[in-house]
Formats: sequence, structure tokens, C-alpha cells
Amino acid sequence: MKNNIKKALSLVSALTVSAVSMMSIIPAYAEKDTATEVTKFPYTIEGEDLDGATLWTSIYENQMPDYSGEGFAYLTSDALTFKVTVPEDGMYQVTVRGAQILSEEGRLQTIAINGVEYSKTVPYYNKWTDIDFGVVRLKAGENEISFLNKYGYMAIDTVTVSDAVFPDVTKAVDVPCDPEATPETKSLMKYLHSVYGKGILSGQQEIYGGGHSVSTDIRYDAGSDKCVDGKGNEYVIDRDSEAVDKDGNKFYWHCSDDKRTYTYDEQNRSYKYDDYDQEFDYLKETAGYYPAIRGLDLMNYNPLYGWDDGSTERAIDWVKNRNGIITASWHINLPTDFENYELGEAVDWSQCSYKNNPQFKIANAVKEGTKENDYLNLAIEDLAEQLLKLQENNVPIMFRPFHEAEGNGGVDGSGAWFWWAQDGAKDYKELWKYLYNKLTGEYGLHNIIWLQNLYAWSDESAEWYVGDDYVDIVGFDKYDTVYNRHDGLTSGPNEDCNSNVYWSLVNYVKNNKMAAVMENSTIPSLANMTVEKATWLYFCTWYDNGQDNFISGDNYNNPETVKELISSDYCINLEQLPENLYSFAGDDDDTPKTTTTTGKTTGTDTTTTTTATGTTKPAPDETVKGDANVDGELSLADAVLIMQSLANPDEEKYKLTEQGAENADVVNKGDGITNMDALAIQVIQIELLSPEDLPITSEELNKIIG
Ligand code: CA
Repeated sequence: MKNNIKKALSLVSALTVSAVSMMSIIPAYAEKDTATEVTKFPYTIEGEDLDGATLWTSIYENQMPDYSGEGFAYLTSDALTFKVTVPEDGMYQVTVRGAQILSEEGRLQTIAINGVEYSKTVPYYNKWTDIDFGVVRLKAGENEISFLNKYGYMAIDTVTVSDAVFPDVTKAVDVPCDPEATPETKSLMKYLHSVYGKGILSGQQEIYGGGHSVSTDIRYDAGSDKCVDGKGNEYVIDRDSEAVDKDGNKFYWHCSDDKRTYTYDEQNRSYKYDDYDQEFDYLKETAGYYPAIRGLDLMNYNPLYGWDDGSTERAIDWVKNRNGIITASWHINLPTDFENYELGEAVDWSQCSYKNNPQFKIANAVKEGTKENDYLNLAIEDLAEQLLKLQENNVPIMFRPFHEAEGNGGVDGSGAWFWWAQDGAKDYKELWKYLYNKLTGEYGLHNIIWLQNLYAWSDESAEWYVGDDYVDIVGFDKYDTVYNRHDGLTSGPNEDCNSNVYWSLVNYVKNNKMAAVMENSTIPSLANMTVEKATWLYFCTWYDNGQDNFISGDNYNNPETVKELISSDYCINLEQLPENLYSFAGDDDDTPKTTTTTGKTTGTDTTTTTTATGTTKPAPDETVKGDANVDGELSLADAVLIMQSLANPDEEKYKLTEQGAENADVVNKGDGITNMDALAIQVIQIELLSPEDLPITSEELNKIIG
């Protein structure tokens, strides 16, 4: 039982974001070892005082004057380590006053936070310099911070850990970079901005091309001349599609019901269909909602093997009939044998690729009169035709061309895996601008919100950013279940929210643009995003391809975590988008969210739980016992809020509403809000007490806890 209580307490601690120690609130149940003194921040330790350090006063013959303390540490063999103790999960800045005089080109250094490693390149510094080792997450209790000797040879004069300070991300612009953007595009941008920093939009990429082929048990019965399924349901036969199989039996290629058209499968002698909605239906079934954003790819409209896979039609349907948001990538291919390719010639898809192609010079692609330029213009023409259909239907699109350009890192394109980035950042940026000018200028397309993927492998990653005048939203593609894990696990879903990447991207664009997870395998968890304050605008999970089932595979996503996020008020889904999404006027007509699961904010509107969209979910029951935040449910968030309200009596955001205070007073009813009320709610969470037993006396509660 004690263990259960400890577990519940540590969980609360993980969710609490105020600067108050749980244990100080409920001293009666504090664990003994929490007597460890909490570190006071900013905390600075001399390099020479780190565990594993020896005292250096010069680097061999190189004098390093002006050090603090007795001298400094030099990372040459053992790891250099120190410990800090924090009251609860939170984000902290690590800064090293250091020097690095071995490698002119910079030297990779590795910091480990409780054993989880992060690397950064430290430039050549022959004078003591404050080196930013990033914002890291420390867990409640003692944390070990180490500098590992991998490449080493970094001198450390001091290390400072301080409370992380976050910029106000809502300062990002809320107007498209295209000054001639259509009214719908401007409205969508305004709406996205109204959400940014407060919640996350859910998104899902659809399968491209042929879709998921789904077999049915619909058969053509020659005797009755009908198409029927196993349950006896009848289907409408397309009489024009009559055919005869190799055994001389008559059949029809197509039959339909009010949902779709089915196509005859000669092998199985039954009917099948192409399903583009499998992932969307999965989310609805698993988490209760459809995603707000539908991702698709416009690669199939191309001059080589192009065909209409219905992407444009589905985009229009999603926006016009479902009131959703569309984003598209563009995996545009090149003919593999570009030298011998004849412009305009059809090429089998197997002879095409989006991979690097040394026969195709990116610098030429933007130069009139070159073969590369002629091909690019053809590809843009096919793309523009589809974008124009969207524009004619008043459909804006969040378009993400030339994505993942940096690849595995390097400004010269050496880490690139897509042709558009192979020749490095400089040529890439010209290519982007060419596309931008062509679409907005020549084709008059102003229904585009321009998305650019960026990575954050090094400080040079920002070199790939095309610029504020050509980009609306920057993003990151999160594939970290196999590589680049920082969650301490070795396999399975990685629910990391990549807050370090988030803050790098925000920094690259000087906080002028919003940032999103534009593709992902594992969806970041709600808890990680709220603790680490990684306020990504949206996520967009890649589709299930049979081999990698990014959304439904339990190696990529844990259905419970997905459900927790998607069904939370923090997440905005298709059903919660405002009716006026495409005529949205701005933040003024937007009602902020009233609840988040961190318990950070209280409900100010006691009749409905209002999402950031201005639409309303059904009004919750306001009178649930223990429901301090009046979200209609008794949860751990209520206990957290009660404790925060007690610990921060002057802070408006933690104040309970009248109804909340009435609900929260569950122990010794009538004595007002005390720590015992929070404790009772936690005890309910670990199922030692039932909500029906409320209210309860403090004697009864103490008896249960023992
Ligand atoms: Ca020192």
C-alpha cells in the first residue's frame, strides 16, 4: 500500500509544473530520503570540483588565464559528473564556461542526463566562452549530469544549471508569407496561430497511390444475376462493365453501394476496393476522434508515370465536406537515367526516383535553357494544375515541398537522401525560391501555407532555412524509434516530444514562425509535451504501409497514449475545429482553452469546456465530487490543481472557481480546501477509496492510508 501511495505521489510530482515540492505540501507522508536538499538555481559548480576531475591550470603549454576558482577540468579520460536535486520534473538550462583548442573545425561533445546522451559540436574557442548545452529535462529528485569522454578535449571552467526560460512562442506571425494569400488561407493561418502555444492539432497522413486494397466477400452470382455479400446484402451492378473470365464465365468489373465502388478481383473471384481511410477510421475507433489534419502527397501528378490517384478530390472533400485541414508533401521523382530521358516522355515508375541523382544539377534546375529547368517546369505545371483546382474550390493547403532536405546533416548536402537537397543548402534554397515564385507568380496560386522541414543536428542546420519571406511554418519529422532515441529505451514506441529540437527550430526562425511535427512515427505523449513545454502546432503520423504500421503498429504507437492525448482538451481534432475555420478572424473571437491535463489552468467558464477553437464539446457535469477543475471528471489533475491553489494562493491561474471549490471540498466537508482534499483524490486514483464514498472525514481517510 505504501508503495502505491509513493507511486501516486511521484506521478503527481511528474505532472506538477509549479515550483512547489509535493512533499512540502503533505509532510505527513513524505519519504525519508526526500530530505535530500533541493538544489538552489542558478547552480554553478567549478569544473575542477566535478567528480572525476583533476585540476588543470593550463592545457599543456597553452595558458588559459582568467579561470574561475582554482583552475579547470580537462576532458581527457574519465567522465566528469555532478548531481543536482530538483523538486519536480522540469526543464533546466545547462551552460558550460569552456574552451576547445584542439579542433579548428569544432569537436563533438557528449553530455548525459541520467545516462541519456546528447551531443553537440563545440566550436574552437581559445578563450573561456559560455557554451549552451541546451535545455534538458530533469526528473523529480536527484539527477546525474555527466560530460562523457568520447571525442573529449573540452576544458570546463564552470558548469551552470539554471531554470529554463522559454520565449513566448505566440509572438510567431499569424499572416502568410505570401502577401496576396486568399482570404481562406489567411483565415486558416489565423486559426492555426490561435491554437499555437496552447494546444496541438492532430494529423494523419493517408496512403498515396493505390490505397489499401481491401478484399470483401461480395460475389457475382450468375444464377440470380446479382452481386451479393455473405450477409445477403445486394449491390448495384454496373451493367456496362460486363466481361468474361478465362473459363468463359460472365462477371461484371464493378458494383457499388452508397459508400463506394467495388472492383472485381479475378484471382479471388470476389470484389475489392481501395481504402484511403484505414488510418483515419483506426483513430476514430481507438481514440474517439478523426484527426483535424489530413496529410496527402501530390507526387502522383507528375510528367513521368503520372496518374490521378484522387488526392485532389479527397483534399477538396476533407475541407469542403468535413471542415478539416489539408497538408501535402511532394515526393516528386526524377527519371533515374536523366541524361537519356526525353522531355515529356512517359517513364515507368520503376525507372524513376526521388533519391539523389548526380545526373541532375540543382543549380541548373533554376536556370532557363537547361534540361533540368525544362523538367522542373513540367513537374511544376502538373503540380500547379492540382493546386489550382484547390484554389478554385477555395481550399487552402499547407504545402510541404522539398522536405527533409538536410537529411542526416551537413550544409553541403552530404547527408541528403532526396535529390532536391543533394547539392547543398545554397542551391536548395534557390530551388525553393524558384518554386515559390513560379507558383505564386506565373500560376497565381495564393492558397498555399508554405511548410519547411528542418532538422537540428548541428548549429549549421539553420543554414537550410529558406527565410521568413518564403516560409510560414517550420517543422521536424520525428522518426526516433530506431535511431536518435533519447527516451532511455531501446525499442518500441518513443513518446519523446523532442523539446530540444522544438526549441532549436524556434531559435532558428527567431520565434517568428510556428513549429510543427510534420511527420512522425510515435506521437509524442501528452505528459512529455506539457512538462517539456514543447508546444508543437500539430503532429501528422505517417500511414501504415504493411511493413511499418506507423499508426496502428504497437511497435510505433501505444493505443492508450494516443487515446490519452487525442481525447484530451489539449488536442484539437476534426470534430473540434470551428465552423468558421475558413473565415476565422483572429484571436479576438477565440476563447482560450479552459483546461489542460497539467491542471495548470482552471475553468473560468463553468457551463461548458471550451476548446481553443471556439466550438464546444458537450457540457460536462459540473458537480462531480472532487472535480476541482470542473472538467466533468475526477482525475489526478484535480489533486494537482488543489495543491497548486494552496501553494500559490496569489496566482490567478491556480484559483479554484466557486463550483471547483465546492467540488474539491471532499474531506471534512465544509472546512474549505485543504491538502487532505488533494490526498483523498490521489487515494481514489490508486483505488483504495471510491468516489461514491465522498465526502469523507479526515479520520476515515487516515484509517485507509494506515
Ligand atoms: Ca574553474
